[in-house]
Amino acid sequence: MRIVRRTETGRRSDVVVPSPDEAGARLDSASWWEYGLCRAWDADLFCVPDGVSPSRKRAQETRAKRICQSCPVRERCLAEAMARDEQYGVWGGLDAEERRQLERRRRGTPRSS
Ligand code: SF4
Repeated sequence: MRIVRRTETGRRSDVVVPSPDEAGARLDSASWWEYGLCRAWDADLFCVPDGVSPSRKRAQETRAKRICQSCPVRERCLAEAMARDEQYGVWGGLDAEERRQLERRRRGTPRSS
């Protein structure tokens, strides 16, 4: 899959990520993450660094989640993040708080205040 992206400065950048069909055939491999669409973007978009304002962080995470929605390894990515209780960043289309909420729902645990 060829992805055409724009950097924050408006520069155009083409990146090739293996197709969803190819990824689907190899999802069991240990290298599933090689098929993640996030490989075409800066890591900071998916794991916003400390010091970024809350509104900017929300905007970046929203953008990252949109990318995740069409990622061929989204389910696998989310499963990995849940399995290792990943505390930071957007994984599988969910941010850290959304993953905690999902875990609470799975366990039937009410939200703590
Ligand atoms: S689901 Fe999102 S974070 Fe996970 S590999 Fe795909 S693009 Fe990256």
